Amino acid sequence: MSAANRPRGATFTRQDDTPGLGPPLPRKPLLAAVAIIATVTVTIAMLANFSNTDPGEQNAEFTTEAADTEFARENGTITEKTSTPLNGAGAEQTAPEQPWISRVVKRGDTLSLVFNRAGFNDRDVYDVIGQSDDGKSLERIFPGQTIAFQANQSGELTAVRHVKSPLETTTFRRDDTGFESLIENRLPEVREAWTTGIISSSLFLAGQEAGMSQNMIMEMANIFGGVIDFVLDPRTGDTIQVVYEDLYLDGAKFRDGGIIAASFTNQGETFNAFRFTDGNGDTNYYNEEGVSMRKAFLMAPVDFTRISSNFNLRRLHPIYKTTRPHRGTDYAAPTGTPVFSAGDGRVSRAGYSRANGNYIFVKHGEQYITKYLHLNKRKVKAGQRVSQGQIIGSVGSTGAATGPHLHYEFLVNGVHRNPRTIHKKLPKAKSLPGAEMANFRQTINKASSQLAVLRSNNHLAMRSSSKTNSALN
Ligand SMILES: [Zn+2]
Repeated sequence: MSAANRPRGATFTRQDDTPGLGPPLPRKPLLAAVAIIATVTVTIAMLANFSNTDPGEQNAEFTTEAADTEFARENGTITEKTSTPLNGAGAEQTAPEQPWISRVVKRGDTLSLVFNRAGFNDRDVYDVIGQSDDGKSLERIFPGQTIAFQANQSGELTAVRHVKSPLETTTFRRDDTGFESLIENRLPEVREAWTTGIISSSLFLAGQEAGMSQNMIMEMANIFGGVIDFVLDPRTGDTIQVVYEDLYLDGAKFRDGGIIAASFTNQGETFNAFRFTDGNGDTNYYNEEGVSMRKAFLMAPVDFTRISSNFNLRRLHPIYKTTRPHRGTDYAAPTGTPVFSAGDGRVSRAGYSRANGNYIFVKHGEQYITKYLHLNKRKVKAGQRVSQGQIIGSVGSTGAATGPHLHYEFLVNGVHRNPRTIHKKLPKAKSLPGAEMANFRQTINKASSQLAVLRSNNHLAMRSSSKTNSALN
């Protein structure tokens, strides 16, 4: 995902490997992975019963037997082959496993400090790092990670396990020739989910009421940012429908997955977006016609999530028309609200004047200029290249402004145009090539019907609630 592709998400942190706009997890291998995880989980349960591990360390325990277990796919079913008997039936033949001692990496820790805390010395550190293929990776430790140690009866270190994240563990085991490493990656289980919402004041509140996380609302805003102005467009009664993924690990939600498809009905007009990975492996969102949702310009160059519903309600009036003389769109928003570059371009001017206050002008190609006035702070300098969605400043009330707001202007060949209506004349968004369309239609088919069902349920619910209301009046 390019930086240009994550507009408003810029103000929120999310883990790099979250499958958001990134490539979706492969479907079929995933099923196999899920089955493997399920099997491993059973193994863990067996182990937990057998070894006298501190329950608090069970988390670090999950990969123990997986290392010795092979899985093979035969005739479409997963079979498990074990090279050594698991605890249970054959347990009496093997010595019970020595307990693991876990230590959590703290801020300022070195590997040697962690080893020392577990009762091992620098010689052990040296052996593990020097003798195994992935030993060097153990030198990159981060606060919060767990390192577990196992010793034999005489107290010699026999294994070290570095739990980098719930998804990645490296185990170093001593054999006759020294330490050997084994990296294990787990795939989270992907569960599909859906939610719907009816807007009463803002998309943000509707999303929250629909149980969407902040990240998911941001992602929704990113997807529709080229076609909907989430500050000025939403109206009471607009609806949203989202089909998305939740990632689970060991039966518990681990984190948000990505949005599979979403629908936004704004003032009677419905916009659909579907996630699709094309033949080159690039994942993007497209409407049902295969036209990219990513447009040359954002509809609203301001972080709508920071604008309270009160602000929004005030902005529900078509301010643009009534304030036409000053040839721009005003977005009332709290001081400090991030302001985004509406499109990719280069900062042509950044400065201060009595009328404009702190201002930034961005030139997009030969024809287009966008202007951002009354900023509290400028975050970019003249000549700097900016990408769509990049934060270029923050809302303020500098210059001739009565209150904090962003004054936004859009110029085409030097002439002021209404950014809210000019969009239809702007450069066309990329469409999927014809060769991709059959695959695209097939891919979105299920999500498309899901959205349609959710949408009609929403509308039924609204109609029945409005009937109830009129009966009451
Ligand atoms: Zn203005």
